[in-house]
Amino acid sequence: MTKSTYLKCLYKLNQYAKSLNIQVNLNSTCFKYDPQTHTITCDHKLKHQYAKFLSGYLHELGHAIQSQSIFSKLKKNKITLITIMIDQENDAWHNGKCIAHELSIWDDIQHVYKDEWVRNWYTYISTLPKLKVNELKALSTGYTHD
Ligand SMILES: [Zn+2]
Repeated sequence: MTKSTYLKCLYKLNQYAKSLNIQVNLNSTCFKYDPQTHTITCDHKLKHQYAKFLSGYLHELGHAIQSQSIFSKLKKNKITLITIMIDQENDAWHNGKCIAHELSIWDDIQHVYKDEWVRNWYTYISTLPKLKVNELKALSTGYTHD
């Protein structure tokens, strides 16, 4: 991805966030959406990997527009928390894809976006079973990523 394409895409994502009153901090140390403050943070360390940075930003926008998991009313235990987490994460990736289509940037980003989607699936699957229930509880409502 060229720098000019990156800047064009970044502008569209910023405008999209602004239209939904979502605050965005592009100079943070991690990708995260905080539903309490309606704020997205992006990891500045990835800023020079244009498509990767935009993919993370899109994914967090996907969290910002998502509704509660259909499993959120189930009694909370390790299995339901893992289910909610996976459901919310996949839903956010799916929403990010839809936003990219809506903003006509999908063609620019789809290869890297799909790679990131798959890479994160691997992370969720490999790390979730090792987490304690309270860590899972925080993740299923706070959406922190590396
Ligand atoms: Zn996420």
